[in-house]
Amino acid sequence: MNLQRKPSFDNVKKYVLDIFFPNRCPFCGKIIRWSDTCCEKCYNEIPFIVTEHCKKCGQEICMCNETEIYYDGCVSITDYSGIVRDGIISFKLDKAVNLVDVFKDDIYKKLLSITDVDKIDVVTAVPMHRSTKRIRGYNQAEIISKTVSKVINKPANSKLLIKQSSDVAQHKLSRYDREKAVKGLFSADEKHKGEIDGKTILLCDDIITTGSTLNECARILKDNGAKYVYCFTIASTRLDDGKNESI
Ligand SMILES: [Zn+2]
Ligand SMILES: [Zn+2]
Repeated sequence: MNLQRKPSFDNVKKYVLDIFFPNRCPFCGKIIRWSDTCCEKCYNEIPFIVTEHCKKCGQEICMCNETEIYYDGCVSITDYSGIVRDGIISFKLDKAVNLVDVFKDDIYKKLLSITDVDKIDVVTAVPMHRSTKRIRGYNQAEIISKTVSKVINKPANSKLLIKQSSDVAQHKLSRYDREKAVKGLFSADEKHKGEIDGKTILLCDDIITTGSTLNECARILKDNGAKYVYCFTIASTRLDDGKNESI
């Protein structure tokens, strides 16, 4: 287990901030050392994925033959359950923005399992509609993409894609209906098309459920010339657990 941040110049800021705003566990809220990313009790409860998932679609039960997958690989770190589920819900509500730091040490090796990390040109995020972002103040997928970009030392650009409209709650929809619901939700930003064409892109989000959102974003990126698209999410929903909250 490695809960501690490595000493670095960046951490001087964290150390000083900690004097005024104590560092808290993103899962339980308990005050923790400035150099820790979560408390030991919570770390031990994280449902890390230990089962084999398909390297292409990212699912435990491969769906590559059921639908056309536009991305070239997908990997997640944990199951979307227990404290990770609660932590991601808090993360969406801006109460646990340091949640992604807990997984910093796992990101690189997880990505290596699906692709050659050196070949990634840019790290991007599933976009949020601008009115939702205005209300919420931030896009959690963008925070994840920035952390991933630092870990793998590749540039981040969360502006490659635009979400055209706010979607309705879709957690009760079947995979087929989700695929229909995401069609037309995203487009490529004209101003950034040059950063898509011919590039290997890593697309980040907080959760994968059926993969419909990631797949539609990947389709748009490929339509605009992306060479390869890989996906990374913190958590993966088991499709049979009935608690799906994201697409
Ligand atoms: Zn805790
Ligand atoms: Zn598959």
